Amino acid sequence: MPDEIFRQLRQELNGDLRENEILAPYTTFKIGGPARYFYVAKDPDDFMKAIELANKFNISYLILGGGSNILVSEKGFSGVVIRKQNGVPSRDFKIEGDKIITDAQVKLGVLVQKTGEAGLTGLEWAAGIPGTVGGAVRGNAGAYGGEMSQNVTKITALCGKKCNQKKSFDNKDMNFSYRHSMFKKNKKCAILSIELQLKKGDKKLIEQRIKKIVGARNRNSTPQYPSAGCIFKNPIVENNKILEDFKKETGDKLTYNKIPAGYLIDKLGLKGKKIGGAMISDKNANFILNIGDATAEHVIMLISFIKQQVRDNYNIQLREEIELIGF
Ligand SMILES: Cc1cc2nc3c(=O)[nH]c(=O)nc-3n(C[C@H](O)[C@H](O)[C@H](O)COP(=O)(O)OP(=O)(O)OC[C@H]3O[C@@H](n4cnc5c(N)ncnc54)[C@H](O)[C@@H]3O)c2cc1C
Repeated sequence: MPDEIFRQLRQELNGDLRENEILAPYTTFKIGGPARYFYVAKDPDDFMKAIELANKFNISYLILGGGSNILVSEKGFSGVVIRKQNGVPSRDFKIEGDKIITDAQVKLGVLVQKTGEAGLTGLEWAAGIPGTVGGAVRGNAGAYGGEMSQNVTKITALCGKKCNQKKSFDNKDMNFSYRHSMFKKNKKCAILSIELQLKKGDKKLIEQRIKKIVGARNRNSTPQYPSAGCIFKNPIVENNKILEDFKKETGDKLTYNKIPAGYLIDKLGLKGKKIGGAMISDKNANFILNIGDATAEHVIMLISFIKQQVRDNYNIQLREEIELIGF
């Protein structure tokens, strides 16, 4: 039976509104229970209206991008999940010289492809990262020496106590750091649009760089099974022995003494470790895979196990990169 809030939401919102929608299919992990209310907005006005109504009815809301950096509990989410219809490139982003203005819901992969085709360089590092540009800005996504903070110049977001004030932010306002932006702290903000600055480049070279990165990702990390990418942030390590061992064994340079969490997990021989349907990837030990019917509980147990092993053996506390929803 639809409840009173659902009836009111239905009266006031255009577009696709559902009750008790299972979230698993909307996540790359393919795990997670129902959203009490689930709304797909067709345009920015509907999107803002949905947030306004969530505030009016005093229910929590979650902005969902590509669902590639979250683990949703079996209980699901008790408020309203709000998505924008997938960004349509021809409508939702434009290239002005070497600047890009894009809706937050456009897929990062589409942006990499289209900017490359336009002969703009600077986003090649993001090739192969799933999810939306909005999600990538919020978490300052990064790979292969690049991160969003290097490309973003401005964004427009809905902020404020009730998330109803449209504001513009410059790069320096966003407090970017490793896998972090101010939007992670300020959970109420909804990123609407983003301006990126790229450079004119050689189309052929851009294409080659993208191919090289996608090839490396396929060899080193891209899994055969559903996942949410790296589970943990790479920790800053002070222990000289670990740092020296890492440099000797991999030949890689370190930035700010940050050691890949996957290296530490691998050294403990944990690749392939399973709990229920959740397994530590045997390509990149920082990935947990849903090898079939994994529940959020299985993943959480495996996360706890890894954290404990790394703490006991290296005295290092791993922290999650993924966001836990509904726990
Ligand atoms: C196979 C695989 C490989 C990956 N590789 C990488 C990698 O190399 N580097 C990397 O950094 N990440 C990687 N990831 C993680 C993930 O793809 C990125 O973090 C991505 O940027 C998340 O975007 P999303 O749209 O999927 O966010 P979601 O998972 O939908 O959301 C994540 C958080 O952002 C919030 N959010 C989303 N959109 C908005 C918005 N418009 N306004 C406000 N908040 C918003 C959500 O509420 C949620 O809190 C990988 C994931 C997978 C599955």
